[in-house]
Amino acid sequence: MDLKDHIRGIPDFPKPGILFYDISTLLRHASAWRTAMARLAETIAPHKPDVLAGIESRGFLVAAPLALELGLGFVMLRKPRKLPGLTIGLNYALEYGTDRIEMQADAVQKGQRVVVLDDLLATGGTMSAGISLLRQAGAVVPCAACLIELTFLKGRDRLDVPFEALVAYD
Ligand code: IMP
Repeated sequence: MDLKDHIRGIPDFPKPGILFYDISTLLRHASAWRTAMARLAETIAPHKPDVLAGIESRGFLVAAPLALELGLGFVMLRKPRKLPGLTIGLNYALEYGTDRIEMQADAVQKGQRVVVLDDLLATGGTMSAGISLLRQAGAVVPCAACLIELTFLKGRDRLDVPFEALVAYD
């Protein structure tokens, strides 16, 4: 099955000039979504994760079912001020301005192997921040993975861990 048949590019979203890759159509298609999850599970299993982390919000849609599939726990990396209790966070640069990602301070144990997941890798800034934050929490990050990689943005070059994606657009 070609997963690209279930992903659509929507022009001028969220801003003019941007082609947004929309996974809603993949999520809606039960067997295509199952195939995507099975392929990602196969891809990340050799990295022997103890826990999976997902980046808000579409990263949750990827990481939570994969965690169930692999029999692992799932940790949320969230936008600021969403998580209760003691949190740690990291500010990171966007094209214009900055953003922040947070997690619960006790979400992972020191030395745990945590694979980070999101729907799509563009410039790599979000994923790179997620990896740094998990390390700040004491995790070891053996790999990162997404459904989609925009290869022309060279986001994987910003990551210092192996990166896996099911589908690439250049
Ligand atoms: P980056 O930080 O530039 O790599 O952007 C990746 C983040 O932006 C991810 O959390 C994605 O969910 C989101 N994103 C950027 N472009 C797209 C797109 O075309 N479709 C879906 N999400 C996108």
